[in-house]
Amino acid sequence: MIGHFTGHKADTAQSDSANGLVLESDVIAAIATPPGRGAVGIVRVSGVGAIEVFSRIFKPATRWESHRMYYGRVVSGSETVDEVMACCMLAPRSYTREDTVEIYAHGGIATLYGVLNAALDNGARLALPGEFTKRAFLNGRINLTQAEAVMDLISAASGAARRVGLRQLGGGLGRRVASGRDKLLTWLAHIELSIDYPEHEAEAMNREEILCESESWLADMESLLKTAEVGRVLRDGIKTAILGRPNVGKSTLLNAIIGEDRAIVHEIPGTTRDVLSESVQLGDVVLQLMDTAGIRETEDPIESIGVEKTYQAAEEAELVIYVMDRSKPPEVEDIEILNRLQGTADGEWSLRGESSHVIIVLNKCDLYPADGWDGWQAGTQVHYISAQNRNGLDNLYEAIQHKFLQGQLSGADAESDIITRERHKELLQSAIDHVYRAMDDFRAGVAEDLVSIGLREAYTALGEILGLEVSDDIVDRIFSEFCLGK
Ligand code: GDP
Repeated sequence: MIGHFTGHKADTAQSDSANGLVLESDVIAAIATPPGRGAVGIVRVSGVGAIEVFSRIFKPATRWESHRMYYGRVVSGSETVDEVMACCMLAPRSYTREDTVEIYAHGGIATLYGVLNAALDNGARLALPGEFTKRAFLNGRINLTQAEAVMDLISAASGAARRVGLRQLGGGLGRRVASGRDKLLTWLAHIELSIDYPEHEAEAMNREEILCESESWLADMESLLKTAEVGRVLRDGIKTAILGRPNVGKSTLLNAIIGEDRAIVHEIPGTTRDVLSESVQLGDVVLQLMDTAGIRETEDPIESIGVEKTYQAAEEAELVIYVMDRSKPPEVEDIEILNRLQGTADGEWSLRGESSHVIIVLNKCDLYPADGWDGWQAGTQVHYISAQNRNGLDNLYEAIQHKFLQGQLSGADAESDIITRERHKELLQSAIDHVYRAMDDFRAGVAEDLVSIGLREAYTALGEILGLEVSDDIVDRIFSEFCLGK
């Protein structure tokens, strides 16, 4: 598109979006790159009149084309703020579907604020967190799961989280939910047809057909729901506590995992008095590591706080790495502690429920083993490491990933849709529950209008995932989690 730099005009700056939510289109501006020193920093301006705002602060005036880079100066009054490159993207071919300008300035704080302030002084207002993406959503460019994917991509700490976010941004999850929702609509139409026009009953899908289809629908939605656990691990990481009696090498292991000398390593038992916390990426998962005091009966008041924190940490943790020293004989106390962490009969130690795990580690395997470890607790899986020499850690990491990702992200499965948000999980669960109940009723011969009420509830819940049926406050809450400039 070629044109003079006029951009689009609208009668009002506020209107209703396609989904009935309030859509503002006044000119907003924000710094889109993170604070700090960088070679380049970006200021973004978007809205009805963005081009006018920009043309007031950019010299020289030129004939502009959409999606082309221009070189010039940003000015504030008579002062030049910076030499920049700029690109204007005319509606609807922009991220927000509004007229948008991106200004590429030098990436220092003073420079970027200078450019931003020039825009603010010339008719733009400061954007709220997530406001650009909110406009993209309200203008129908992306659905709500895609907007959430944008946020997930920004905060993705691992390659797997990035892949899942990217797939969601491409609309994978949205399409699956939308097709589930379409199916509900088909059943509703057929059920309502037979209520309203009993003479057409022969043309409607019969009860058996709908019941049969509902079974595969439920199986599909339930398999999607099951991915929520993996999704949560990818998003939030795994809360991990390293536990064991004093001096077995917990701090050394923590340091080896973190890769820096953060926790204090000491030969005197009980030196790790406080819970440190650190997050570290291991391949596809992120561990939120808590370092804890050794578990031990103690008289020392400061230390006993540490011991209490240890059990607290174990309670909060999703993964306990339980460390023992193989160069010393096994202690009955360890068995007691492991039992307290809820040992199970099948040789796997687990905390509450399926999603929490205990991994047992025998440390100091660089030293000569003490008697008693051969056949220790037959059937229990242990990992042999030397934290000091960093031996055996790769196997340990693999075991952790395997336990938490259940192989879901390897190879072909990298393509599957994964639910990463509590919001999606709750709505999907609610849709499934409604369909279960509706189909039970349907099977039992309950009046069809009651069955259709249940199906409508499910339909609404899936619509909410996509952002088709959400209220302003929910949308505001979702977008407020974004960072500025996105
Ligand atoms: P914590 O009390 O469980 O945190 O144990 P530390 O990490 O403070 O380690 C206690 C002592 O064991 C220190 O002297 C460490 O250097 C030593 N240690 C830790 N890991 C190993 C290991 O793998 N091999 C050997 N030989 N010594 C280790």
